[in-house]
Amino acid sequence: MTASRIVDLRSDTVTRPTPAMRRAIAEAEVGDDVLGDDPTVQRLERAIADRLGKEAALFFPSGIMANQTAVQVLAEPGGEVVIEAEGHILNYEAGAAARWAGVQMRPVAAPDNLMTAELVRAAARPPGRYSVKTTLVCLENTHNAGGGRVLALDAMRAIRATCAELGLPIHLDGARLWNASVASGVPERDYAALADTVMVTLSKGLGCPIGSMLAGTAETMDRAWHIRRRLGGGMRQAGILAAAGLHALEHHRDRLADDHANARLLASLAARIDGVRVVEPQTNIVMIDLPATGPDAAAAASGLADQGVLVSEFGPRRLRAVTHLDVDEDGVRAAAAALARVFE
Ligand SMILES: *Cc1c(COP(=O)(O)O)cnc(C)c1O
Repeated sequence: MTASRIVDLRSDTVTRPTPAMRRAIAEAEVGDDVLGDDPTVQRLERAIADRLGKEAALFFPSGIMANQTAVQVLAEPGGEVVIEAEGHILNYEAGAAARWAGVQMRPVAAPDNLMTAELVRAAARPPGRYSVKTTLVCLENTHNAGGGRVLALDAMRAIRATCAELGLPIHLDGARLWNASVASGVPERDYAALADTVMVTLSKGLGCPIGSMLAGTAETMDRAWHIRRRLGGGMRQAGILAAAGLHALEHHRDRLADDHANARLLASLAARIDGVRVVEPQTNIVMIDLPATGPDAAAAASGLADQGVLVSEFGPRRLRAVTHLDVDEDGVRAAAAALARVFE
């Protein structure tokens, strides 16, 4: 069959700016943000800091640059960073923490990829002349490789208490913290209060073309500004991009509930296919495990692509599908029907 339109479920990064967002971009008041006079960037940084309950926030071109800036600000070079074994900072940032922050990562495999206080305590090394010094804990909420699972507020509270006792700062990779908040009903600031620095992306579920934010104390963000400068991440008339962020906060945050409903629908339709299993989605990521016989992930992804449905391979027999602003219920139903045809 020939596809009338593409259903792109590879990631929530594929969203394109809506006409209204493009108007906000076109009308943005701008200045040179490196010189400190882009009013739209300043408004966005204030809005994000307030929403996250932090003193200050800083606009970045990407989530990776914001994460890596946080690691450089909080971790001691030569030290060790405790992180869940499938965490983004460890697995998908091209070795940046080793290369730029000079730290080694300590992967901790957690049940369902959800870190616990007990696991942090067990991984933190007692001080000793021979051992590497534990210097930072990185958390991820929602957990991407974990299928968009929400790290519960209680678990984060317990981790915070343990880290306080051990003298360890926490960086929260909250690329999809918006999804965690909408799914759990817990405001972003309640999660953010349990970390020293928080990264949130604008370019995923919120539907902006470009941009992520790092938030923390004013003093930490001063140091982050300097590191962003060193990485070449200072941008000039960045109000063009920040305008999209302000628009998204107002119009695209609450609607993430629709993406979550579409993810649940996709999961329930996919699970009807013989031998297919799904990880019950809590947010907008659906992990689809294929039967041991029949098409593997590569073959299934290409069979889907032939029908105009794009997904990611997430293992030899696992597909990842992510719902977002540009996929509606019809698109999800079409994707599930295409998957069923691949297994006919
Ligand atoms: C996408 C993502 C990032 C990185 O964001 P980029 O903007 O692509 O650099 C960081 N952490 C998590 C959990 C992500 O999903």
